[in-house]
Amino acid sequence: MKFGTKAIHAGQEPDPTTGAIMTPIYQTSTYAQASPGQHKGYEYARTQNPTRTALEANLAALENAQFGRCFSSGMGATDAILKTLEPGDEIVSTNDLYGGTYRIFTKIYERYGLKFTFVNMQDLESVKKALSPKTRLVWIETPTNPMMSIVDIRAVVNLAKSVGAKTVVDNTFASPYLQNPMDMGADMVMHSVTKYIAGHSDVVMGFVGSNDPKIDELIGFVQNSSGAIPGPQDCFLVLRGIKTLHVRMDRHCDNGEQVAKYLKNHPKVKHVYWPGFEDHANHEVAKKQMKRFGGMISFVLADDSQAAAFKVLENLKVFTLAESLGGVESLAGHPASMTHASIPREQRLEAGLTDSLIRLSVGIEDIEDLIEDLKNAIG
Ligand SMILES: *Cc1c(COP(=O)(O)O)cnc(C)c1O
Repeated sequence: MKFGTKAIHAGQEPDPTTGAIMTPIYQTSTYAQASPGQHKGYEYARTQNPTRTALEANLAALENAQFGRCFSSGMGATDAILKTLEPGDEIVSTNDLYGGTYRIFTKIYERYGLKFTFVNMQDLESVKKALSPKTRLVWIETPTNPMMSIVDIRAVVNLAKSVGAKTVVDNTFASPYLQNPMDMGADMVMHSVTKYIAGHSDVVMGFVGSNDPKIDELIGFVQNSSGAIPGPQDCFLVLRGIKTLHVRMDRHCDNGEQVAKYLKNHPKVKHVYWPGFEDHANHEVAKKQMKRFGGMISFVLADDSQAAAFKVLENLKVFTLAESLGGVESLAGHPASMTHASIPREQRLEAGLTDSLIRLSVGIEDIEDLIEDLKNAIG
């Protein structure tokens, strides 16, 4: 089945009781049993809920994964993956990383004995050097947030395999429509469902997909034991959002391309980070592993100061200044003071995340209005 058909149908059947086309919101905490242990596969709603089951099956299908588990947030999903590790285990990760991921690694799990190494994953030699026989997990994020760097998933998966480490890809920025890490040999794919998948800025949720029943069992054990599960209302909203994922993504990509090109030609813009440009360091890898280049763009102004960036952000009218991304509405953000404020400044600058960097999540509004808004704001 092709992507758009899976988006609309996978995991979903008309409701057996009424024939309802949409999977109902099973707002229940528990399920009746005929005799102890005699039930229809549902015992207690932390463990199973039919609305969640439908969504998990749908998302697994979109990622070409055999198994899927949903969590109450992207960070809940990340937390579950980390909880499958043991003290002393080593994790190699991209240095250009979602701020919250960096925070849970260094502020929470380092205290529990996990050891993290951060490397520039565009440079495969640095990845090789960071790997050791104790490496249990390699954490890939691509495109990266907010520098839009591209990591060669197949190449890093092969390096990880050579030391027996598993790989996980945070696929939030690409969405399952643009990139499928499981097809490239990754052991797990994770999402902040909050972003493109839900797509309407009204839900916070996370997802982990895998193919190995042993991995799924571990993730499922943590899901049920720690209990960071999404409620049925949120699962319903995401199922509804996914039905237009492919249509939305194509418009995000169309608009993203036009905005990126407009900014690149603007005299007051110094640099635009977008993997669709031929002069992007890993453009060829992006072309190989992504269907299109997406609607996320970062740029720096010629006047490379925080004040200049703030002025542009305050002047925008169609783009809203806000955290998050991937919704139908265009958003703009200042990573250094917002999403990435928890990363030390020197480390930020090393990754190219300067004080004046602006990140755009290009929405699906009419492109003329978006360009006009940028024109007025940049001046
Ligand atoms: C937002 C985000 C997360 C965290 O997800 P939440 O749903 O906010 O908990 C993780 N990774 C990336 C790349 C993100 O953008």
